[in-house]
Amino acid sequence: MTRVLYPGSFDPFTNGHLHVIQVSSEAFDEVIVNIGVNSEKVRHFNIDLMKSAMEEIFEEMGLINVKVVIYEGATINLAREMDADFIVRGLRDASDLIQEERNANLNYKHGNIDTIYIRAGEYGNISSSVVRELLKFDIPIDDYVPKRIKELIFENK
Ligand code: ADP
Repeated sequence: MTRVLYPGSFDPFTNGHLHVIQVSSEAFDEVIVNIGVNSEKVRHFNIDLMKSAMEEIFEEMGLINVKVVIYEGATINLAREMDADFIVRGLRDASDLIQEERNANLNYKHGNIDTIYIRAGEYGNISSSVVRELLKFDIPIDDYVPKRIKELIFENK
């Protein structure tokens, strides 16, 4: 049984994140998605509402081996608590790789847990910050986030 941990801010959750989760759900037995709480980063969207919306999306898509948790703390500590075998992260381009390798090396050294990368492929131009930027200028976000996330964003505007 292989259990993986996919940590991120998901602020907001995007189609790029969903792609990583779909591939992981197929490739591994259990996927734990961790919405990280980072006191140094200001959140733009309510974390509990984001968690519920993500759970609804996974349920609707029949991704029954995907679970969402909110955790404030180091990813390696959660990985240990959850007995995860690997950390999963998405890769869009070379600059992602440089940043991700830095974290992956630290997690391997201090948490003895390796990282598996999922290619963004056609979702490579999607990021939470791009979605936030589009929203600022009233540009449609339909191609970037699941419908449920768009609803959440507009319900809470
Ligand atoms: P963080 O703040 O931890 O980087 P994000 O929510 O921005 O959190 O991203 C979480 C993970 O998802 C990261 O590994 C990131 O590279 C990956 N990711 C983000 N957008 C995409 C995308 N469009 N395609 C594939 N992976 C992505």
